Amino acid sequence: MDFTIVMFSWIVAIAIAIIILCFMASKMCEVASLKGYDPAKKHIFAICIWLGIFGYFYVLALPDLKLRKLLGEKEESENFDKESKNDSSPQNKVTVLENGDWKCPFCGAQNPANDKRCYCGYKRV
Ligand SMILES: [Zn+2]
Repeated sequence: MDFTIVMFSWIVAIAIAIIILCFMASKMCEVASLKGYDPAKKHIFAICIWLGIFGYFYVLALPDLKLRKLLGEKEESENFDKESKNDSSPQNKVTVLENGDWKCPFCGAQNPANDKRCYCGYKRV
């Protein structure tokens, strides 16, 4: 008799824990997508379920891609670039100098011809 009550309360406790985990994980998926990540590709949900609080910290510690993009830094992940609409703003035009070097349109630094990326994070297109 007592045993069934104990079992029942355990099941209820576990069920509540699972609900909270799922709720937190879906919240973290929201946070990740707000930051510009694809939660499905990053396995945010699974990470949060399995790592619990550490998973939340992981998501919260992810750099904000949207903020980075605003600052002119392009992420190396190609998916993110494809998803975001093609930037054709005039400031993305690279000025090529006579010796092949190119000038970063973002920070104005001169970069060697074979460098694909400026130190400021701008990726040559
Ligand atoms: Zn630059």
